Amino acid sequence: MAHYYVNTNAQPTGEHEVHTEGCSHPPLPNHRRPLGYFTDCKDAVREAKKHYANVDGCAYCCPSCHTR
Ligand SMILES: [Zn+2]
Repeated sequence: MAHYYVNTNAQPTGEHEVHTEGCSHPPLPNHRRPLGYFTDCKDAVREAKKHYANVDGCAYCCPSCHTR
């Protein structure tokens, strides 16, 4: 299980990126909205979509959920 959070600040292209706690390219601390603990990024993305319509996984920490 890993702790995930979503960037409250959208990317220039509109999506909110989901990250794990230990990401090497995290958003600023005040842009992190905690999502909780999940076994994989797909569940974290599903949770983030309750808050934001446009969600994507981070290319660095969630490559299997990174689509854009
Ligand atoms: Zn990340």
